[in-house]
Amino acid sequence: MNEQARIPRATAKRLPIYYRYLTFLEDAGTSRISSAELAEATKFDAATIRRDFSYFGALGKRGYGYDVKALLSFFAKVLDQNSLINVALIGVGNLGQALLNFNFHQSSNMRIAAAFDINEHRGKILSGVPIYDMSELEEQIKAQRINIAILTVPQEAAQDITDTLVAAGVKGIMNFTPLRVSVPDGVRVQNVDLTNELQTLVYFIQNYASITTGK
Ligand code: ATP
Repeated sequence: MNEQARIPRATAKRLPIYYRYLTFLEDAGTSRISSAELAEATKFDAATIRRDFSYFGALGKRGYGYDVKALLSFFAKVLDQNSLINVALIGVGNLGQALLNFNFHQSSNMRIAAAFDINEHRGKILSGVPIYDMSELEEQIKAQRINIAILTVPQEAAQDITDTLVAAGVKGIMNFTPLRVSVPDGVRVQNVDLTNELQTLVYFIQNYASITTGK
C-alpha cells in the first residue's frame, strides 16, 4: 500500500496503539480528540503524535483537534483491519498455551489459526485452535495462507523449525526463544525475550530507582 511505504517505521509501530484507542473513543461516542488528550492516553508525547498524524495527511485544527472517524477510516485502510490475518503457533508448552488462550483478542484482525507440536495435545483443540502434528506444518501453512508464525519451542529446535517455516513461505517470525535465528533476506524476525525484558527492568529499578520517572 502506498500510504504505508511513506510512513516511517517508528510511526507505523505506534499506529496499532492509536487505532485501538481511537476505536475505544468511537465506541464511547467521542467524535474529536486533541493531540494533548491522545498523548495523555497513549503516553506518546503530543509533538510525536502531531508529527505521526501529519504523515497520515491528518492535520488537527486548532481548537478542534482531530476527527476520530476520519482517522479511524484511514488507519483501518493502512492496517487492513478488515482482513483477518492468520498466524501459526509452533510449540504448545506453557508459553504457547498462554498465547493460545490470549489469542490477541484486543486486536480484531489477528488470530492464531493453527498450532503445532511434536507431542502432547496433537489432534486436540485448545482455546478454539486446532493443534496439528509438526509433520503437517508445511501443508497447513500453505493451505491456510499463513505467513506469520510465533515460535514458542525449546531453543534447540528453533533454527530447524525456522528453516521449515521459511521453506513453507512464512515471511515473519515472532521468536520467543532466546536463540537469534537466521533467516534469508525478505523474512523478518521479531525477538521477544521475556526473561531479558524482566532482567532489564530489574536492572533499571536497582540502579536508577531515584531517577526513574516512567518516561
Ligand atoms: P515454555 O514455557 O517455554 O513453553 P515448556 O516447559 O512448557 O516451556 P518447552 O520444553 O519449552 O516446554 O517446549 C515447548 C513446547 O514445544 C512443548 O509443548 C514441546 O512439546 C514443543 N516442542 C519441543 N520440540 C519441538 C519441535 N521440534 N517441534 C515442535 N514442537 C516442539
